[in-house]
Order: sequence, then structure tokens, then C-alpha cells
Amino acid sequence: MGNLVGLGPPGEKDFSEPLRLIVVGEDVHGAARIQALLGRDSDVQVCTGATRLRRALHEEPVDCVVLALAGSDDPESAIRTALASVSDEPVVVVASSDDALALRAIYEGAQDYLLQPNTDGESLGRAVRYAIARKRTETRLARQALHDSLTGLPNRALLLDRLNVAVARSRRRPTSLALLFLDLDGFKNVNDNLGHEAGDELLVEVARRLQRVLRPGDTVARYGGDEFVILCEDLRGQREARRVAERARGTIAEPFALSGTQVTLQASVGIARARSEQTMPQELIREADLAMYQAKRRGGGVESYEATSEFELESRLREALQHAGLQLHFQPVLGLADNRVLSVEALVRWEHPERGLQPPAEFLPLAEETGLIVDIDHWVLAEACQALARWRTDGLIDDGTPVSVNLSSRTLRSTELPGVIERATGEAGIPPGLLSLEVTEASLEQDPRGGAAALDVLATLGVRLCLDDFGSDRASLRTLSGHPWSAVKLDRATTAAAATDTKLGRMLGGVLAAQHAADLPAIAKGIETAPQRDALRRLGCDAAQGFLFAAPAPAPELEQWLARSAGR
Ligand code: C2E
Ligand code: MG
Repeated sequence: MGNLVGLGPPGEKDFSEPLRLIVVGEDVHGAARIQALLGRDSDVQVCTGATRLRRALHEEPVDCVVLALAGSDDPESAIRTALASVSDEPVVVVASSDDALALRAIYEGAQDYLLQPNTDGESLGRAVRYAIARKRTETRLARQALHDSLTGLPNRALLLDRLNVAVARSRRRPTSLALLFLDLDGFKNVNDNLGHEAGDELLVEVARRLQRVLRPGDTVARYGGDEFVILCEDLRGQREARRVAERARGTIAEPFALSGTQVTLQASVGIARARSEQTMPQELIREADLAMYQAKRRGGGVESYEATSEFELESRLREALQHAGLQLHFQPVLGLADNRVLSVEALVRWEHPERGLQPPAEFLPLAEETGLIVDIDHWVLAEACQALARWRTDGLIDDGTPVSVNLSSRTLRSTELPGVIERATGEAGIPPGLLSLEVTEASLEQDPRGGAAALDVLATLGVRLCLDDFGSDRASLRTLSGHPWSAVKLDRATTAAAATDTKLGRMLGGVLAAQHAADLPAIAKGIETAPQRDALRRLGCDAAQGFLFAAPAPAPELEQWLARSAGR
């Protein structure tokens, strides 16, 4: 079969070697006829059916597959199944005359289609050679469409495709998926000072180094000029993405030799992690990019999106504190014997510009972490005292009724607190005894000695102290008896359970009796139903707070409520 030898396209397949071909037919005779046409110069294997074809291709790669379909009853489906069995091999179809079928075959991925009666050894050999060359060009073009021509790395399109697959996979089974956005610091200087060729050389070397430090299965793509994106799947822990980022930075920090000049560079890396099944691929890229900018703003290094978003949240919260973005809601505490208002608790809210009104659970943990809670508590103290002064002036509240403010353990232990309290009560013109400070047992536990010392100082100022959330933590009698409390608030879950659980109810009754013995009034929180109220009253609770009486509300609403309840 001399016609298959020689004359390969320059730089491509060398046709001087004998070709390995497979002829697939529906029956052995049809396939053998084609085999005979191909002559003896090539290594031709004959097989029947798609399964055998798959097996043969798996065992050894071939240069081209020839489908012998003349005489087939259903050539269309034979073409479809055969083409589904090949992946990278070029395919030539030899079948009966049918233009529509020929087009179909080409659409399905065949490289050529020959009509059986007109096919001789020479035309078949030529078709095989052209099919091989065509397939290679197709593959090269497909590769070019998905790879960056300079570095050979996957480009943005391929990255997105892989990211889509990875995100879909992470939805099916929980894997840890992270995206690293890497940008070279000072790349522009290299381009400007050493020229674009040196810049290109640098990018190629960066790509090579990044590939070397990745874990098998990770993808590094060139995203833009000097931007690279690394996709990591199956991370074992939170820190692994950061380790990959550090390795990437480390390898880039090693000097580059560019056209005789040594250049050193740094990289900034942003990390975004897929956090929930709702994560969108584009969103991950955006988050990693944002984190990278944050890293750059801080002078380089690695930054994670979570940290960035917390950073942003923190600065927004700080801004809210300075520019009237925080508000107070108020909730009354009522005596269970006579429904009189015994105190009013101030509860902080944040009016977030995009997310709307945020409850404390959304921002206090971060405020605690960053220390901003101390300033927030100071603000609440001043505002709450002002509100109480207004209600007193307007005759909405009895002279002896205090306002309650929650204190975090940080605020409790801060040395400025006594001064802040004196200023807040002084400026509002209310006696310190009308300010009640709520401290949770859990926050005292964090630093029992410091907490105790702080409580003693506060007691000398004449303010009231209220132990909050009693029962949620240790319910320690030492804590109960060891400090100058004027009231104890029972934890919401405990009171709710005690209303239905007789045994717990009896035990709580015992604790309440002990409190009464120590002259300590008990307040039940989170009372939502009349049966809960009645049960707690029976157990000996003195006062209650909850949606059943009044939900926390902005000052004007509480004022209306106070006016209504005074008229009752
Ligand atoms: P807390 O001191 O236990 O406040 C009572 C919480 O229970 C409030 O939640 C209130 O809205 C809620 N609540 C009241 N009645 C009911 C009810 O019948 N059913 C239910 N399910 N809940 C009820 P909120 O306002 O979300 O406050 C949560 C916590 O945040 C407070 O718990 C307090 O520990 C803290 N907090 C609120 N404001 C401040 C503040 O200004 N400073 C500090 N440090 N902490 C605050
Ligand atoms: Mg409270």
C-alpha cells in the first residue's frame, strides 16, 4: 500500500512509517474487502461491532479507523455507535451512496466519507491520510481554543468548564473546593523595563513553576495578562488551600533569569472556597479576585475571601456605629403578679444598607472578635439612658423603672466602663440606680476573677446588676450568690422546657425558692404562650419577658405600647 507512505504534512504525522489501522464492519466479509483495498504496507486489524472496536482501541492506539458499512441495514446507527466508541482517532466511513448519510457522518465527527462503488485502494489510502491530517488539525484548533497560546496552560474558557464540573461534583458529594487567584506584583515593570519578550518569557516560566508546585489533579489556568487561577479539588482541610497558595508564592519568589538579567517578583493570592451547594462558578472567581485585591492592598501575600468579607463587614459596622446606622429596639419586662412594667431592655439592631435590619446574632460575634463590641455597648448605654429619660419626662414610665442594657464580657472588663456609665446616666439626668446591666453567666466564666472585680466596681456606682441567661451554662450557685445581683433572668430554653417537663419544672421551682430566700427576683425570658406564662408563675417566677406581652420594638412603638398599658 505504497500510497499511504511518505508525503506527510510538514511537522505533523510522518507517513513514512506503516500506519496502524482498524477496519470495522458489521460482518467480517465487508471488513475484509476493505482490508484488501488497503494493501499490505499498513498494519490493518479487522473487527466487527462497537464493543470489539472499543476493546481494540483500548489495547493499542491506531492511526485511523475505517468504518466499512456498505450493505449495512442501518448505517446511520452503526456510524453513531462506532463514532461514540472512538475518542481521538480519525474515522473514514466507506458506505453506499447517500448524501444525507455522508453529511450526518461528518456532523457526528467522521473525517471523511467514501462511496463504496467508487472506492479503490488509492482513493481509500488518500482518504485515510487526509483524515489523519484533518483530525490533527481539528485537535490542534480545539486545543488552541481552550489553551493559552503563550504558556500552553488552560485558558479562561477551559477553566470555567473545569470549574463547572468541579462545582457540580462538589454538590453531589461533599468535597472541599477552592479557587486561588494569583496576580504577579510588578509584572508591568518587567514589561516596561526589559521589553515584552522578556515579559512573555517570564510568564512562560511562571506557568512552568506553578505547574510544578501543584498537587496532581489541580488545574492552573492563565486568566489574563499576569493573572493565573488555580483550581483545587478535594482539599483535606481549611489550611490546605493556603499551603498551595504559599507554595505558589514561594516558587514565584525565586529569582528569574530573563535575557541575562535577574528579576525577582512577588505574587498576591486570593482564596475563595465553595461554601454551600449554591456556590456559582463565576461567583467563586469574583470572590477569589476580590480577596486577591485585598491581599494586594495590604502589600501582598495571601488573603482569603472569608477574611476579606469579614474585613468589609467590620468596616461597615464601624461606619454604622459612627453614622447612626445602629438602632435600639426595646422590650418590656412585666411583673407576673400585676402585669406592671418592671423594666425595659434595650436590644441593639444594625440597619445594613443592603441586607436590611440585622439582629445581634448577625454582627455581634464579629464585633466581639474585633473588639468593636466595646464601642457598640458604650453607644447602647448612652442611647438607652437618653430613651429612659424621655419616657420619664413624658410620664410613660414609673419613676423607679430602670432600663436594661446587655454588656459583653469585653465591655464588662474594660477600664473605661465606669466613666462611660457615669457620663451616660449623668448626661441623661437619671440616677445610676435606674440603669440595669445584664451580664451572662457564660461571659463571667471567660474570666471569673476579672469579671468579679468589674462587678464589684460597678456595684459601687449604684447601678443594678442582672445575671442574664441563667441556666444555659453551668447555673452555678456560686455565681448566683457571689455577686450583688438585683435580678436573675432565666435562660429561654430552660423556661420553655420547664413549662412542659414536670421534673425540670420541679427542679426549677426549687432553684426559684432558693433565689427568693436570697431576695433575688427571677425573670423568665422568651414567654410566647399563656400556658408558659401560667406554668412559670406557678413555679414562682416573679416577672416575664416575651412575645406574649410585647416583642422588641423601636422606641416610638414601645412608647405607644407604654401609653396603652398605662391606660389599662
Ligand atoms: P438576650 O439578652 O437574651 O435578649 C433577649 C433576646 O430574646 C432578644 O434577642 C429578643 O429579641 C429575644 N426574645 C424576646 N422575647 C422573645 C420570645 O418570646 N421568643 C423568642 N424566641 N425570643 C424572644 P435579640 O434581640 O436577637 O438579642 C440576642 C442577644 O444579643 C441578646 O440576648 C443579648 O445577649 C445580645 N444583645 C442584644 N443587644 C445587645 C447589646 O447592646 N450589647 C450586647 N453586648 N449584647 C446585646
Ligand atoms: Mg439580656
